[in-house]
Amino acid sequence: MGSIVQLSEHVSNQIAAGEVVGRPASVVKELIENAVDAGATDIDVVVVDAGRTLIQVVDNGKGMSSDDSQLCFKRHATSKISSADDLLSLVTKGFRGEALASISAVSQVELKTREAGTELGTRVVLSGSDTGEVDEIACSEGTQFAIKNLFFNVPARRNFLKSDQVELRHIIAEFQRVAMAHPDLSFRLQSNFSDLFNLRPGSLRQRVVAIFGTKYDERLVPLDESTDVVKISGFVGKPSFSRKTRGEQFLFVNGRFIKHPLMHKAIMKAYEGVLAPGNFPLYTVFLEVDPKRIDVNIHPTKVEAKFEEDQAIFSILRSTIKRGLGKHNVAPSLNFDTELSISIDPVPSNKIIEEPQVQIDPTYNPFKTASTTSRSSSSYMKSMDFGCGAIEEANIDNFFEVKESVEMLEFPDTIESSKYFQFQNRFIVTIQGENLILIDARRAHKRILYEQYLDDGMGLEGEGSQKLLFPEPIELNSADTILLVEASDVLATYGLELEELVAGGVEIISVPSGLAGKIQDCIDSVLEALRDGTWADEEGRREKLAAVWAQVGSIPKTKKLSDEEMSAMIGGLFSCASPATDPWGKSVFTVFNAKSIDDILG
Ligand code: ADP
Ligand code: MG
Repeated sequence: MGSIVQLSEHVSNQIAAGEVVGRPASVVKELIENAVDAGATDIDVVVVDAGRTLIQVVDNGKGMSSDDSQLCFKRHATSKISSADDLLSLVTKGFRGEALASISAVSQVELKTREAGTELGTRVVLSGSDTGEVDEIACSEGTQFAIKNLFFNVPARRNFLKSDQVELRHIIAEFQRVAMAHPDLSFRLQSNFSDLFNLRPGSLRQRVVAIFGTKYDERLVPLDESTDVVKISGFVGKPSFSRKTRGEQFLFVNGRFIKHPLMHKAIMKAYEGVLAPGNFPLYTVFLEVDPKRIDVNIHPTKVEAKFEEDQAIFSILRSTIKRGLGKHNVAPSLNFDTELSISIDPVPSNKIIEEPQVQIDPTYNPFKTASTTSRSSSSYMKSMDFGCGAIEEANIDNFFEVKESVEMLEFPDTIESSKYFQFQNRFIVTIQGENLILIDARRAHKRILYEQYLDDGMGLEGEGSQKLLFPEPIELNSADTILLVEASDVLATYGLELEELVAGGVEIISVPSGLAGKIQDCIDSVLEALRDGTWADEEGRREKLAAVWAQVGSIPKTKKLSDEEMSAMIGGLFSCASPATDPWGKSVFTVFNAKSIDDILG
């Protein structure tokens, strides 16, 4: 007897479900898209426990007949395609007829639906693909799907789900993508019975603003270009409002959200020279292309498209955006060239420049007198305030490797007159013994602050937190508000205390010490870390947040430092446990000595 058997529909549905239904967000996406395909103008989504317990989508679309309401759960049952050719001219979202079969294989489903012109609708109840009940019922026109206990019969998948916070973030992302593509329809999303989004029909601009917040209105640059190859519309963000996260980037091809690295690159190219490195602009770009000239390869969870005229579309897209940014006079607002040039402080012409008076003691050994008590980095930083200049003389004595005898250097006067100086307002150059050390001041500051936050205890009881005299309101879109509010207990234990505002957004009550003047940056960075969602354990979270606080609190990349500040920085850095790298693992300094210079010179 052969060993090949045909899998039952039940088993193959479960296997396929793994592909189509990765997480609650995929269910939300499929159901919303079906509602759009059914011509609904009003789509209402409710999730409970980030979709684990319930996902409900109610639409006012065309509904299903009694037959269709059962057929729709069969694999490859679709009303949207009959031959493979249709794929290319697809106007609907779904076409594979797989979503409902897959969803019903791994959940308990209740469907209520009624077609226009019929008096009674149908109710179908299924559990793990097995149809339980089918009744005639009275219900409103359109379709209501309730998906309960997702993955109830696949515990492995259920356990694989991330925290509610992460799952909800994915749900919001899918919801936003569909809502953004259809500004003419109403969409509502509720999580645990409170409203996250309630979007009324309107223009695309209104939709973007409704999703991201009213302050986005002034940030948008409209796009409108029509060529034989492609039609471009939508909005891009002004470069000055770009953020450090990628979250706000949407590309649609013929109304379908896709990820297209090449087109993303075209958009980023348009921002070249006007965007600070590491920043991401917002964009919501719609491309319309003749469907016959796209090769759509639709994987269950991602959509990829290949355009016949890739290169042409690339150039048109880039120049359209470039022109748009130029027209709105936003291009020249930033100039990064200045950062690269050496800035020399002009000497007033009436100033007599004195020759430095230097007393040299040839027997002086800077390392000999070193006090051997190692001071903690935090004791430096408490008195070290780069804003106000209250600087304690730093202890640079025992920093670096202690040498017993220091050879006389060839130009001792230049060394003694400036043990350290700054180069390009960025690097601290210092000579210590036989070594010439080049320190990136910002990275050094990050390392110092990082260890300080970890040492001082970041909690509200620790020294790491500072209560604001007046709580500061921060305006945020609802997705960001949720992220922050859900993490608020954790954040509070790390010195950032906040409360949700009834009007939306949050109110900041305390901040990590030293960050009172940088609350917005602080919130942006925390949101970035939250979106990243990779805080494994307590220790990881502590380190990540300390690094975020240090990042926010550190001096800018270029900043003129006084002698005292440089001295304190050097001292602080080399009292750190790991002075060589910043909290993100980047090198803080580099050391040259005669040998390494010989090697370089060859
Ligand atoms: P596809 O969307 O790829 O056709 P689905 O499994 O998502 O496959 O849906 C199967 C079919 O069920 C659809 O083709 C459609 O006829 C019907 N259907 C699903 N959702 C709805 C809805 N909200 N309103 C009306 N019909 C629906
Ligand atoms: Mg579908």
